[in-house]
This record gives sequence, C-alpha cells and structure tokens, in this order.
Amino acid sequence: MSAQALFGAIEAGGTKFVCAAGYGPRAIEPQFRQVIPTTTPAQTLAAVGDFLERVRRQAGAFAGIGVAAFGPVDIDRRSARWGSILTTPKPGWSDVSLVTPLARFGCPLFVDTDVNAAALAEARFGAGADADSLVYVTVGTGIGGGVVIEGRTVRGMLHPEMGHIRVRRDERDAQFAGICPFHGDCLEGLASGPAVLARWGAKLESLPDTHAGLDIIGGYLGQLAATLALVLSTRRIVFGGGVMSARLLGRVRAAAERQLAGYLPIEARAGGFEQLIVAPGLGDQAGITGAMLLAAG
Ligand code: ZN
Repeated sequence: MSAQALFGAIEAGGTKFVCAAGYGPRAIEPQFRQVIPTTTPAQTLAAVGDFLERVRRQAGAFAGIGVAAFGPVDIDRRSARWGSILTTPKPGWSDVSLVTPLARFGCPLFVDTDVNAAALAEARFGAGADADSLVYVTVGTGIGGGVVIEGRTVRGMLHPEMGHIRVRRDERDAQFAGICPFHGDCLEGLASGPAVLARWGAKLESLPDTHAGLDIIGGYLGQLAATLALVLSTRRIVFGGGVMSARLLGRVRAAAERQLAGYLPIEARAGGFEQLIVAPGLGDQAGITGAMLLAAG
C-alpha cells in the first residue's frame, strides 16, 4: 500500500462531471479519470460515488476530496447549505447537495466554484505562475469568472458572478433582446455560446473572419476585461471556454485597450495587453487540476 496521500477531484459541470484521483494536483493517475454526463442529480451523483468507490477499492482511503462546481453554489462552510447548488435554471439541480453523497468517504471535503478552481490552477501552474493575482473567465454555455489574489480564491457573500454584469450595447446588435433568464441582455445573455447561436444560427468559430459577430462578441468581452482591470487590477485575465479562440482573444484585447483609452499604465509594460489578457496555460485541464488543488492544497 502506498504511503502517499490520495486525493479525489470532481469538476462538476453543467454538461459533464469530470472525476479524477491521484497523489497531488499534478499527479492524477491516468486509470483514475472518468467523465460522467450531467443528467439527473440522482443518476449523476450515483455514478460519481461509484467512481470514487472504485478508486478507494483499488488505492485506499482518500485524504481529501475537492469539488469544483458550476454555480451558483454555496461555498460558505458555515452555511447549512454548504456544498449545495443554489437556484439554477438547470432542471432538477436547484438545492442539490454535492457533498452529502461524499460524506461516506470519511475524509475532508472542499468546495469552490469551477471557475475559482480553474483560476487557482492557472495561478499556480498555468498562465499566472509568474503573477500574484489572476482572473479566469470561461465563455461557453454560460459566462463565469473566478478570482485568485495571492494564492486564495475570492469568495464572500456568494462568489464572483461576473458573467451577469451589464455591458454597453454594440449599435450593430441593438435588435437582439439577449437570452439570460434573469437579466435578458447581461454579458452572458449577449456573449455566451447559446446567445451567439440565437442570433447568427452558428457557433462563433464557424463565422467568417469578416462577420460582425466576432467584433461584437470581442467587444463585449473586452468590456469585461477592462472592467476587471479597473476593479481588481489583477496581473492576468485568462479567457478560456468553448467560445474562445485566438482570433476572438485578439479582439478582446483590442476592445479592452480601446475602452481603457490609455488610462492604466498597461501599454508601458513589456507586452502590454498581450501579457494581461491571455489564453489558459493549462488548456482544458484547469478545472480538474483546480479541484485537485482544493483537496491537496
Ligand atoms: Zn444574467
């Protein structure tokens, strides 16, 4: 039997749960990886339990399990609902506890948002390994962001929900009402994957370079980046998720630079906006690496 501490990690997403286990955040065991589609809570969480049970049978008891969850999720350990998904438009998932089914493993449990966990991993091992502060934004089915300042994720009343800020409308986009069920034309309502599909009938990646949609979406995300630079002053703003691409990232940088209009001393630094607004260093592994980090520290 190994004397090393064994950790479990769950990246609980709206479309899939990525499960992993290993002996440290960068030491996931290849045979202990499983992707489970997100269906009903009962079915999905039973499959997660089966995975962890298999790991325990083969490798021994867990020293800790980290859960990086889609939000909104209660991450306040003092709360009675700690570890539960809060009110979500995702059918069946409101008020579902992600941690209750894990109690039987008898180890410490850790919960944070998927984007906070991804930010933690990017700050430790990825795009922010040389910086002390970082935001990780994901642009996909929804838009969310996590924040790490000096090695700790930002959490408070809830957790950052920066996908729902208001942005100034592009005048070429005035007719679209937006699709956020809460706010209509908040950032997520305008710039998420489903919002792109709703007005142009295609994914952003399939639109030609000359299509205005790229500039419009890049403009909205650039407004978020400029706002983050002004409010949080982090040294990195990482943009990941299924909607992002190199050509979109370039437009996000350009829009942020336009909006800030020389106010912050970013241009003066080597690399300027290319240093500030970057792609993930860990690719699509940021979330699960972050979940391992929650457990292993
Ligand atoms: Zn919204």
